[in-house]
Amino acid sequence: MPNATDLLPRLHAQGIHTLLVQFTDLHGAAKGKLVPLAHLDGVLRDGAGFAGPSIWGTGLPRTGPRSEFYARGDAATVQPLAWMPGVARIVGDGFVDGTPFEACPRQVLRRAIGQLTARGWSLRTGIEPEFFLLRHTPEGRWLPADDGDRLDKPSYDLKSLPRQFDFLQALRQVLTDAGLDVLQLDHEDAHGQYEVNFAYDEALASADHVMLFKLAAHALAEARGMVFSMMPKPFANQPGSGLHFHVSLWNGEGDAARCVFQPDTGAGDPPGANLSALGRHFIAGVLHHAAALCALAAPTVNSYKRLVVGESLSGTSWAPAYVTHGPNNRTAMVRTLPGRFEWRVPDASANPYLATAALIATGLDGIDRQLDPGPDCSEDLFALSLAEIRARGIALLPQSLDQALDALEADAVVCGALGPVLAGEFLRLKRDEVLAYARHVSAWEFERYASAF
Ligand code: GLU
Ligand code: MG
Ligand code: MG
Repeated sequence: MPNATDLLPRLHAQGIHTLLVQFTDLHGAAKGKLVPLAHLDGVLRDGAGFAGPSIWGTGLPRTGPRSEFYARGDAATVQPLAWMPGVARIVGDGFVDGTPFEACPRQVLRRAIGQLTARGWSLRTGIEPEFFLLRHTPEGRWLPADDGDRLDKPSYDLKSLPRQFDFLQALRQVLTDAGLDVLQLDHEDAHGQYEVNFAYDEALASADHVMLFKLAAHALAEARGMVFSMMPKPFANQPGSGLHFHVSLWNGEGDAARCVFQPDTGAGDPPGANLSALGRHFIAGVLHHAAALCALAAPTVNSYKRLVVGESLSGTSWAPAYVTHGPNNRTAMVRTLPGRFEWRVPDASANPYLATAALIATGLDGIDRQLDPGPDCSEDLFALSLAEIRARGIALLPQSLDQALDALEADAVVCGALGPVLAGEFLRLKRDEVLAYARHVSAWEFERYASAF
C-alpha cells in the first residue's frame, strides 16, 4: 500500500493541493471534509476526525472517546476530482477509538469481503446506475429536465440525448480523469432518465466508484441548473431507476484469478448452463434471502413503487417483483449470463457497500447450505397474471419497506453481515421513515376521498 512519501510526488505533479476525505453514511450519501494535502500523512495514519453522532447510522455517543469518528484514508483510492481543480478524493474507512468501526458501511463490506478472502475468493461487481435529471420549478414542481419529446418509449432516444450531451460528456470526462473505465452512456426508458456504465471491478472498488459517480453527477448537474436524482421512482407513470449489480466470484485476485461461476461440463455442469454448481448455490442464497436483501437493496418507501407487482404486470417498467431466476431473463430478479448473474433488485437509493455486503453473506449462505435455486425460469413474467405467478409457486418480493424490514429483522444471516450496531440503527431509522410516510396525507388521498363519501 503506498504511503504519503510515495503519493506526494504524483499528487504535486497533478497540481493537487487539497484532499477530499470522503466516507459514506448509512443512507448511501457521500460525506467528508477538505484537508490540505500537507496533512496527507495524518489522513493515512489517524484519519480525518468527525463528530460521530452527527453521522447517520453510527449510534455513537455524544461525549467521550467513542464520540469521535475517524475516516482513515485508503491510499489505494486517491483520485483527482476534475470538477474541483486541485482536489483529490481519498476514500476513508471508519475508525473509532483506534479500531475499525463496525457500523461504517465500508468496514461492513470489508468484513464481508474478508469472509471471501478466507476461502481464497474475491467478488467482482459491475454496478449500473440509472438516474434522472430533474428540474425543480419556481412553483415547486419536480419535472424531468427533458420531456423526451413525449415519446411513449424514450429508451436510447437520440433526440433527447444530444440536449444533455454537455452534462454527459463532462461526466464521462471527469470519471475518466479519475481513472474509471467508462463503457457507455445512454438515455433510459423514462423521460429525463439516463444510465452510465463503467467497467466491473473488485467489489470494494466498484462501491467506491458508485460514490464517485454520485459526487460528480450531483456537482455537474447542479452547475447546469438541474437536479441529479437517484430517487427510485420519481414519476408514477414512468419506469424507475435501478442500480443493477452484475456479479461474479473469482478464485484469487488480479490477473491470475479464475471465475468460479463459469460452468464446466467436465465438472458435471449441464451443457448450456450459465452458472457452475457454485454459482447456482450462490444465487439460491440470494433468492432464499430475497426479502431481507430488499431492505438494503431497495431501502426507501419510494423503492416499493418501483418493485410493486402492478408495475411488473404492466410490463413496461423492467423492474422485478418476483423471486425467481432465468437465463438472460430481464423479467426475473436474477438474470443469469455465462459466468455471472445480474441482480436486478437494487435501486438507485441503495447504499452500494451495504447492498454488496448483504449480497455476499446470502451467497455464502447458499454455498454453505448447498441451496438449490430451483429450475431456470425462461418465461416472460411480465406477461403472466398474478394468479399465474402464484400458480407457479413463485414468491413476490416485499411490496413495502415495512415488509422488507420485517424480513430483515428476522434474517440472522443478513443482520449478521451488518453487525448488531448497524442492523439496529438501520432498522430504527428505516422504521421511522416508514412511520413518517404512513402519517403523511398525500394529494392522491384528497383526490380520491375528499368529496367521495
Ligand atoms: N429501469 C429498470 C429498473 O428499474 C431497468 C431497465 C434496464 O433493464 O436497464 O430496474
Ligand atoms: Mg438500464
Ligand atoms: Mg442492467
